[in-house]
Amino acid sequence: MDFDAIFEDQLTKLKDEGNYRYFAELERKCGKFPSAANHNDGEVRDVTVWCSNDYLGMGQHPKVIEAMCEAVKRTGTGAGGTRNISGTNHDHLLLERELADLHGKENALLFTSGYVSNWAALSTLGSRIENCVILSDSGNHASMIEGIRHSRADKVLWKHNDVADLEAKLAALPADVPKIVAFESVYSMDGDICPMREIVEVAEKYRAMTYLDEVHAVGLYGPRGGGISEREGLADRITLIEGTLGKAYGVVGGYITGSAALCDFIRSFASGFIFTTALPPAVAAAARTSIAHLKVSQFERAKQRQQVAKLRARLDAAGIPHMHNESHIIPVMVKDPVKCRMLSDYLMNEWGIYVQPINYPTVPKGSERLRFTPSPLHTDADIDYLVEALSELWNQCAIARAVA
Ligand SMILES: *Cc1c(COP(=O)(O)O)cnc(C)c1O
Repeated sequence: MDFDAIFEDQLTKLKDEGNYRYFAELERKCGKFPSAANHNDGEVRDVTVWCSNDYLGMGQHPKVIEAMCEAVKRTGTGAGGTRNISGTNHDHLLLERELADLHGKENALLFTSGYVSNWAALSTLGSRIENCVILSDSGNHASMIEGIRHSRADKVLWKHNDVADLEAKLAALPADVPKIVAFESVYSMDGDICPMREIVEVAEKYRAMTYLDEVHAVGLYGPRGGGISEREGLADRITLIEGTLGKAYGVVGGYITGSAALCDFIRSFASGFIFTTALPPAVAAAARTSIAHLKVSQFERAKQRQQVAKLRARLDAAGIPHMHNESHIIPVMVKDPVKCRMLSDYLMNEWGIYVQPINYPTVPKGSERLRFTPSPLHTDADIDYLVEALSELWNQCAIARAVA
């Protein structure tokens, strides 16, 4: 059997469709974010990263770095085992307490990534709660979709952020069936925010569990960075809040928070929690420091908001079409996969600006875009330079401008 021929065949198809993914080889530089070195065919040069999920630059915060270095020297590099067999370190428990406090829950449970936390928690809930039906927002992340699929529970899709559709679907199910409403707060591609209060109210009316992914909101929203659920005062009405330590907190890892019984249930039955080596204690220590810092510091959030508003205003002035949402994510709409990749290449090669093109299947065909995430560390000059570049390229590529 020529297995490589099978692989090449499918890769060629992917390339023909324009959906093949090219990775930019970056070397992040501590203290220089959002600047990074770009390695390309043996050449190295500095670029400005405009699409990082290290939303606040916490990955290079001196306190976070110090916490990780201190913990490596104190505990070594790895955890030494799964949580069950010699891997549960003091730093993991300190972090879980920090996370439970962040969301005002009884307990928290750590995972090796946000993806794994969604996959493991949803597959365990869906498979272990008898006759359970999971009502999933149609815009949910791949990790939730895969978790639900793996659970083999009945799944009902509801229209993205459409509470009337959710209610109709809840009402159509028998009253005694256990129901889980799964959704996100900030959706990362359009940057739109869910109508959380209405979702919670409808779920309560039908006695459904609420499962909320706050991955793109933790650290960024709410007075302590507890996400949209904190900002809206709804955290205590949500059954399970899931988040990541890899985006705004700048480290890596995922978690769920909820009641003591819920966390103990997932801890005891989730294969994706049990059968894998725990995160390095140093990672846990760094994440805890990042969370603790953002619980009290408003500086990073305020500065980020300011830079987001600045970029939006400058794009408007230049007539560059972008999606208007209330989050920190600015999708600039290109609406053509070839132009989208071309723009991204030009920006990188001619201007030293790195923004990854977002094409199908990540977003629907015809809605191809460049997704910008301004951080507190992008300067006004960075913003001016970016808008100058986009303006110039918009002229060259003859892409529709926004009508003022
Ligand atoms: C990135 C992401 C995840 C996964 O989190 P990781 O920590 O990166 O694995 C989960 N949900 C959403 C909505 C995401 O965008």
